[in-house]
Amino acid sequence: MGKFNWRALEKKWQKKWAWSKIDETDPDPRRPKYFVTAAYPYPNSPQHIGHARTYTIADVNARFHRMSGYNTLYPMGFHYTGTPLYAMAKRLSQNDREIIETFTKIYGIPTAKLDGIKEPRKMADFFRDDIKKGMVEIGFSVDWRREFTTADRLYNRFIQWHFRWLNKRGYITQGTHPVAWCPNDKNPVGVVDIQGDIEPEIGDSHIVKFEGDGTIYPTATLRPETIFGVTNIWVNPDSQYVRAQVDGEPWVISKDTVDTLEHQNHTVRVEKEIPGTDLLWKTVVNPLTKASVPILPADFVEPDNGTGLVMSVPGHAPYDYQALIEVKARYESSPEPHESLEKIQPISIIRLEGFSEFPAADIVKKFDVKGQDDPRLEDATKELYSKEFHNGVMNDNARPYSGMSVENAREAVVRDLTSSGKMSIMYELLNKPLVCRCGAKLVVHVVDKQWFINYGEPEWKKQAHQCLDEMTILPEERRNEFNYAIDWLRERACARKVGLGTKLPWDPDWTIEALSDSVIYMAYYILAKYLNKNWLAFKKFEKDPEKLPDSFFNYVFLGGGTSESVAHETGISKRLLEAIRKEFNHFYPVDMRHSGKDLVSNHLSFYIFHNTALFAQNQWPKGIVANGFVLMEGEKMSKSLENIVPLRQAVAKFGADPLRLGVLATAELNQDTDFSPALATTIQERLVNLIQQSRKLGRKKTGRTSYSTLDRWMLSRLNASVQAATAAMDRLRVREVVNIVLYHLENDAAWYQRRLGPKKVKGDSRNHVLRQVFDLKARILAPLAPHVAEEMWAALGNKGLVAKAEWPKPNDKLVDRIAEASESVIKDTLEDTSEILKATGLTPRRVTYYVAAPWKWRIYQKALDMAVKSQTNQGNFIRDIMSEPELRSIGKPAADFASKAIRQATQMKEELRKSRVGLELKEMKILEDAMDFFSREFKAEIQVGQEGEKRVSDPKDRARSAEPYRPAIFIE
Ligand SMILES: [Zn+2]
Repeated sequence: MGKFNWRALEKKWQKKWAWSKIDETDPDPRRPKYFVTAAYPYPNSPQHIGHARTYTIADVNARFHRMSGYNTLYPMGFHYTGTPLYAMAKRLSQNDREIIETFTKIYGIPTAKLDGIKEPRKMADFFRDDIKKGMVEIGFSVDWRREFTTADRLYNRFIQWHFRWLNKRGYITQGTHPVAWCPNDKNPVGVVDIQGDIEPEIGDSHIVKFEGDGTIYPTATLRPETIFGVTNIWVNPDSQYVRAQVDGEPWVISKDTVDTLEHQNHTVRVEKEIPGTDLLWKTVVNPLTKASVPILPADFVEPDNGTGLVMSVPGHAPYDYQALIEVKARYESSPEPHESLEKIQPISIIRLEGFSEFPAADIVKKFDVKGQDDPRLEDATKELYSKEFHNGVMNDNARPYSGMSVENAREAVVRDLTSSGKMSIMYELLNKPLVCRCGAKLVVHVVDKQWFINYGEPEWKKQAHQCLDEMTILPEERRNEFNYAIDWLRERACARKVGLGTKLPWDPDWTIEALSDSVIYMAYYILAKYLNKNWLAFKKFEKDPEKLPDSFFNYVFLGGGTSESVAHETGISKRLLEAIRKEFNHFYPVDMRHSGKDLVSNHLSFYIFHNTALFAQNQWPKGIVANGFVLMEGEKMSKSLENIVPLRQAVAKFGADPLRLGVLATAELNQDTDFSPALATTIQERLVNLIQQSRKLGRKKTGRTSYSTLDRWMLSRLNASVQAATAAMDRLRVREVVNIVLYHLENDAAWYQRRLGPKKVKGDSRNHVLRQVFDLKARILAPLAPHVAEEMWAALGNKGLVAKAEWPKPNDKLVDRIAEASESVIKDTLEDTSEILKATGLTPRRVTYYVAAPWKWRIYQKALDMAVKSQTNQGNFIRDIMSEPELRSIGKPAADFASKAIRQATQMKEELRKSRVGLELKEMKILEDAMDFFSREFKAEIQVGQEGEKRVSDPKDRARSAEPYRPAIFIE
């Protein structure tokens, strides 16, 4: 095979698609509509192979629906909003080495170009162009007439309308809330701003105020109910601590805590620094039990975690238990007087089934923990905390909370200590450390007068759940994550002080952030087509967007007001307004929203919320696909692993279709898929082979006489493939479809050809059948590998584009059980014979097959019948058989075979049993028809006989071992 010119193939068909406008979609009342969207790209760098999967699946879905008769719309826009672009441009303008290397070395951007993209908007425009080119090159069937960016002035106007609507509904709140915060950018940050795309989780930590010498020693804990079990306090002797006035109270805290508290609206005035060692051996008083406990050293205490002071509960906390063992050992032989150490024993406060009174000791033993820095301590802690939280009960040491569940005791302790001023709240990033894209470590910041979208609003939540319940979620396994996210979402900061985007309409100091202005833009695709086309009608609003009134959006998207009044108010013609409204009603809602699985808990859930807030219930979203990621040869793609392949380079290197199949073929929807150049090469070969076969076939005459059993077998298999491919495509199990068309169907066709042999027999229907096979292959392949499918389609002599052809429908008339069963006899017999030859090393001169006697068929069928009816008692069955005079006359052989047959029929796979029950095969004829084939395969003479007949000799008495579907074999 010479080098195949993928680029030429792709260009040719992309041009033809553009000419025939396959991807431009306008309303068509004669056909049902299908609206597909994929999360619009964020152009702060070029796309790489990892981005290809979501868009390819969306394109497959769009192309499949187009072929299935739907008026299908698949548009694309670009997300310019927010901090990532801003951060990237800033780093580039500061000549950040890492960014420059990424752009020049990984993405191959000429150094000379970099100067021109140091400004966020210019950078976005540059990468938008690049991404769009890539999407065209890989063959996505996008309606580009609807393209827009979120920095377009009328888009901003649209988002302002959206936010005014939310505000009117009471979904926007302003208040003081903790947010994840970049101290460098002085801005709230969300998942898109964080390295590794991690959603920040903020949790409440409880500060328990221990006291000594009139000073407060605050410890931070997630388990306030364990305060009864405190035996001591831990500090890190290697850390720096300070004495400070915190909101007017004298506190001792780690130096790092000063920042943390200031970010959380506390006033902190540091009085003096104290080395950790100076705190050791002091005693402080437990605010609840009034017990005096010492301050002891522990290495595991991190100064930037909590307050840098930790209360020690060795009975129930694995870290504390381990640290206590070690501190005792360390000071055992110390000359200093630490007699108090020996007295410290764990205190049991929680009863937990399956554990001793000190569960921490049990679990440290179970995990075989070696020291305070053993990572297994973390697992041990997680396991024990969860068990105690869900199943633990407070014991008598926890009076007055004895008998309460841990969960209830926690609430009670928090309530009681807070009301007596001995406890307060501190917010913590539960999944720290998190790093901003700018490189700074994130903190929790309590922002005054921050704007929030209140996803906690109960009515809204109810609506979101209602919408989700009606939606298709692919894969269905993800539905729980959505339910969880919708339940869990509360107030979420929705505006920032920096970045591109839309100003908050009532407070223009703030810019609406990226995950808040990207939830209803699917509606904007309808409008964008008109904005792009009817430029004149909207020109004055482009210049002065404020002049486009809310009534315009209310009319086109919500059907509020009348076209007359809006036309009067805006000067936009009534006809144009009505056309936009009509088109919106035609395409909305979105039938399938495509995105990666990482967006379930944020973007995709917000999408559900906002669409229910704005649109009529019959225009709520219908479905979501959240697919897994793409791995590169088993590894996550990352700059440090240097395994990022830019998408456009990959298309140039592997070809568009091999790349598309490469990211679809190795995984189910919810799993990560594994791409490798070797896989792409294999796929390349298969695709080129399909094209070559189609060309050969296209040149041949297809004259037919009548179908043989073998022809009918091929057509029956073909029909089964269509059925399976359609069912898989309906659930977007694209991997299965790839397997069907590239492997299963290919194997069937290969078997068909092998059975027919190299020579064309006069009047055979081979080409006629193969044409049908390839015709369907081209159609099934069309959504997946559209360029190759077009080439095959044309080579087969079809007029028009396969992209516009009909998706094949299963045809019940082609189902042929007899042909399928016949062919399985041939296949099994071939295999059995080959195995015997391999085992014996014989070179056969003659092979004789003996098919089972008719009475065996009779027993076999009866056995299948009984098994279907679940009447499988062997004794009864044999009695039943032997009651027939004809079978009784055969005697013991009949009884023996009956016992074997009923056992086989019972153990057989249900599918196989169903395919055989009631089926009478003319095995003799089947094998006789295949004599040429066997003779070709074994280069030997073939004979076929029947058990009990003398026509063919049986010198070794083999015939009696023949069974239905399993002829006896004699080799000479
Ligand atoms: Zn930052």
